[in-house]
Amino acid sequence: MTIAEHSGSAEGQHAAALHAHVTGGPTLPQERRLVTSIPGPISIDLMQRTTNAVASGVSTTMPVFAAAAGGGVVVDVDGNSLIDLGSGIAVTGVGNAHPRVAQAIAEQAALSTHTCFMVTPYEGYVAVAEALNRLTPGEHAKRSALFNSGAEAVENAVKIARAHTGRQAVVAFDHAYHGRTNLTMALTAKSMPYKKGFGPFASEIYRAPVSYPLRDGGQSGPDAARAAISRMEAQIGTDQLAAIVIEPILGEGGFIVPEPGFLPALADWAQENGAVFIADEVQTGFARTGRMFACEHEGVVPDLITTAKGIAGGMPLSAVTGRAEIMDAVHSGGLGGTYGGNPVACAAALAAIDAFENDGLCEAAERIGEIITRRFGELAASDSRIGEVRGRGAMIAVELVHPESGEPDADLASRLAASARTQGVVVLTCGTYGNVIRFLPPLTIPLELLVEGIDIVATALRDAPQPAR
Ligand SMILES: *Cc1c(COP(=O)(O)O)cnc(C)c1O
Repeated sequence: MTIAEHSGSAEGQHAAALHAHVTGGPTLPQERRLVTSIPGPISIDLMQRTTNAVASGVSTTMPVFAAAAGGGVVVDVDGNSLIDLGSGIAVTGVGNAHPRVAQAIAEQAALSTHTCFMVTPYEGYVAVAEALNRLTPGEHAKRSALFNSGAEAVENAVKIARAHTGRQAVVAFDHAYHGRTNLTMALTAKSMPYKKGFGPFASEIYRAPVSYPLRDGGQSGPDAARAAISRMEAQIGTDQLAAIVIEPILGEGGFIVPEPGFLPALADWAQENGAVFIADEVQTGFARTGRMFACEHEGVVPDLITTAKGIAGGMPLSAVTGRAEIMDAVHSGGLGGTYGGNPVACAAALAAIDAFENDGLCEAAERIGEIITRRFGELAASDSRIGEVRGRGAMIAVELVHPESGEPDADLASRLAASARTQGVVVLTCGTYGNVIRFLPPLTIPLELLVEGIDIVATALRDAPQPAR
């Protein structure tokens, strides 16, 4: 009896969940399979418990509870198999429960789960630092420090830049997302839902305009950089500036790809003025954009680079990597944390990094990007609600607009995403205006499954009523 046949009864549903559980990871059948409506009855029960037990500020994209995941699917507790176009927000690039990652986790967990690197260190932390120093852009001497979350990495990059420069001001950009802690909320641009009601925010944070080709009137990269630079020179003064923090492709802000020349001009200007250029590659890093790091597309060598999300196949780990003389400017004991560089997370990272380097995942990201871009590019030719299809590698967005005005159409984006989700596709939205559908599939997704998933989104767009004229 298949899981689908078995899933009619409540016991069947639990059996399906158990089955999914014990055969997790990439052994899961790589198929979209709906055996209940979405959400199914077990998920509905769990959602009720969630409402009663979990703080309401923690929201969920889909009211569907995962039992197992791997390759390109998430299997829910009701036995439905969903096509994963989100990777848990760009985290499971190597695939969920990747067998070598899972094995490394199990082996390390049996040896030690924590000693604290600041108390009695262990080799895994050092090996991850060595790998990051080797893989990140630039041939200069580097150092790394490990943390738990992307936000924590960004905070520490700012601490390091301030210690190195003896200056305080930090520039972030329009549409930026850098996290939810107090300092990173200040760096993040969007109020709702990230900042509203949570102030006061950290001081000495300034905002500059970014190159947003669809919405800045066709400015060239160098022109957009000049606009940002003149803002910074006027409002901060170059001798006060500790650091510029920028995502090479702005993630939550809408997968905005700055025009060529924007990032290099900013990096050059930062260097000329003694400010630290920090690339926040928490979302773009680790093969996501078809290169190990997105900065490589334009030959930009950041002074510091922050990484997290894809780094450890789903385990919480983050890092700051950068020029040895900047990283080592901090006094001994000035960086750290109880859990930073946890040994189990480090073991997972070493296995994931091996997969990124040796399993052709950069090439896989390129192929994924070509497929999505072609599909929606063709649609865009005949559907003026698609304002732009953009991105790099397996980080592709479709920005939806009102055809007449070009204004953002967030309502269309949420209706499309909702329709795709009820058909068993995990798809995310993003954008300052909430009008962007974003694709972040695991780099291990079978391409037929990818095509099926994006077809469902494309068909939902075709079938969405056109605005009244
Ligand atoms: C997700 C993200 C962060 C925050 O990472 P957390 O692990 O959620 O703290 C920071 N910067 C960028 C670019 C991100 O995409």
